[in-house]
Amino acid sequence: MTIRKALTIAGSDSGGGAGIQADLKTFQELGVFGTSVLTAVTAQNTLGVHGVYPMSVEAIEKQIDAVASDIGVDSLKTGMLFSADIIEAVAMKIKEHHFTNVIVDPVMIAKGGAPLLQEEAMEALKTKLLPLALVVTPNIPEAEVISKRTIKSEEDKKEAAKVIAALGVKNVLIKGGHDEGAVTYDLLYDGEEFHTFTGKRIDTKHTHGTGCTFSAVMTAAIAKGASVRTAAEMAKQFIQAAIEDGINIGSGHGPTNHWA
Ligand code: PLP
Repeated sequence: MTIRKALTIAGSDSGGGAGIQADLKTFQELGVFGTSVLTAVTAQNTLGVHGVYPMSVEAIEKQIDAVASDIGVDSLKTGMLFSADIIEAVAMKIKEHHFTNVIVDPVMIAKGGAPLLQEEAMEALKTKLLPLALVVTPNIPEAEVISKRTIKSEEDKKEAAKVIAALGVKNVLIKGGHDEGAVTYDLLYDGEEFHTFTGKRIDTKHTHGTGCTFSAVMTAAIAKGASVRTAAEMAKQFIQAAIEDGINIGSGHGPTNHWA
């Protein structure tokens, strides 16, 4: 049996719902071996982020080298990268190790409002990391920031996807979780065509870690050889079930369910 390996380069969520914890749980569920490079430690629970402690650039580079030189990487995702320095170091390592299946989840702000990416790091994300990515998976507010456009309709989403693709990323997937109405539309743009994946809006506060989990499903699927389109379809179905089954732990926003 060939064991596929997926790497997450992301922040730690002590509450276990998002970040590397969500990613590793998702990788395991989808039958790929998960490795992790920590970019920052957050002191976090269902009520919010209580502290952010970034790792040094050297520590991040060493972790990537350690995984790449021995275990190997069939696909990787990036999550919380926090600073321009970290983004630049990760981009350099992606090039050095010739990683190609790169999924960028452009994490910016936690649901409670805590910044997980410094404002001045946006330029580095756009110019250094996105040109190396196979897929970028922004939600609507993130797509608005990256594209500098307001998204109010499906047409706006398409325009934003084109603007983001022009930064050099091969596939843009704008998640519809922030859509208004009973149906959510995830839009995939592959540089030529648009594909839409629909889901139903679920009224729950237990959605912590949805973005991380979504991109982790895509990363695992791509490690196993799926196309970007199939990976996006799998992620939409997986996340729908995980939100339907969101867990009521703690007294705030519980995580999506990984036992589904
Ligand atoms: N904490 C970490 C380490 C994350 O990577 C993320 C999201 O990517 C979050 C928190 C935010 O999770 P949410 O906005 O789903 O609560």
